[in-house]
Amino acid sequence: SDIRENLTYPIFGEAIRELAQTIADDGYEPDIILSIARGGVFVAGGLAYALDCKNIHLVNVEFYTGVGATLEMPVMLAPVPNAIDFSNKKVLIADDVADTGKTLKLVHDFCLDHVAEVRSAVIYEKAHSLVKCEYVWKRTDEWINFPWSVEPPVVRREGQVLDA
Ligand code: 5GP
Repeated sequence: SDIRENLTYPIFGEAIRELAQTIADDGYEPDIILSIARGGVFVAGGLAYALDCKNIHLVNVEFYTGVGATLEMPVMLAPVPNAIDFSNKKVLIADDVADTGKTLKLVHDFCLDHVAEVRSAVIYEKAHSLVKCEYVWKRTDEWINFPWSVEPPVVRREGQVLDA
């Protein structure tokens, strides 16, 4: 359909404060916020300030290979987070949206093996997501326009090779 969920930067600012308040009200105090690049970096930064958490880590996940072919499953790209940094830590995974939920499941399962506790926070969750996040700002089944990716890049870079 042509219907879009349009997130603007001003609404994003409000969403992050509300999402953080929900997490705080729930009594969850993460030691580490783990962002899923690239969209989750915006979410993690906002939550880190609002929750007064200074430890942000990052994991790169892509659905695509360097040659632009789509993979069946998302893959974690190098550098994979150091499991030792996570031992006995309370982790909050931050991402923009749980759509199929495959990306979040990959990162969540990685964390489960290494951490004391892991929960997930997203701005949006779609009904068909195979992961049910503990913290969701809004539920939608529409395609979402995010403010950081709704405009095309200011420069087009062909043949970029992803780290793997
Ligand atoms: P997944 O299907 O694994 O839950 O989502 C993987 C990634 O695809 C998301 O983190 C996001 O970057 C992108 N994605 C999924 N659904 C949408 C959407 O509705 N709008 C946009 N802009 N990106 C999406």
